[in-house]
Amino acid sequence: MKIALIAHDKKKEALITFAEEYKDTFKLHDLYATGTTGKRLMEETGLKVHRFKSGPLGGDQEIGSMVANGNIDIIIFFRDPLTAQPHEPDVSALLRLSDVYDVPLATNEGTASAVMHYLNQLDRE
Ligand code: PGA
Repeated sequence: MKIALIAHDKKKEALITFAEEYKDTFKLHDLYATGTTGKRLMEETGLKVHRFKSGPLGGDQEIGSMVANGNIDIIIFFRDPLTAQPHEPDVSALLRLSDVYDVPLATNEGTASAVMHYLNQLDRE
């Protein structure tokens, strides 16, 4: 599966911890991420990640383009609901495209865990 990972700044630590927890599963899949999220994931977990531009510089839109072209199967997006983001329109556009193309998108750790359990199940079949 092709999995996109994104975390807003205040959620990056949580995403790194999450990725470490599910590292064995993530290793079996192709990972994509916005710039800073991807850099930290690679440095701190050792996972191999294809990096796009940083979110505020167009990374969310690049991932949106992947979604529109059928090249992303799952999005895990740890959003920060308490901080205004300069690229909020890009974030909304990505959420919209995930609905247009019916791509599972987890915007918090609870949903992301549920998605990972589902993925584990698929990997075992
Ligand atoms: P970043 O972008 O991984 O480059 O920080 C994430 C975002 O804020 O959309």
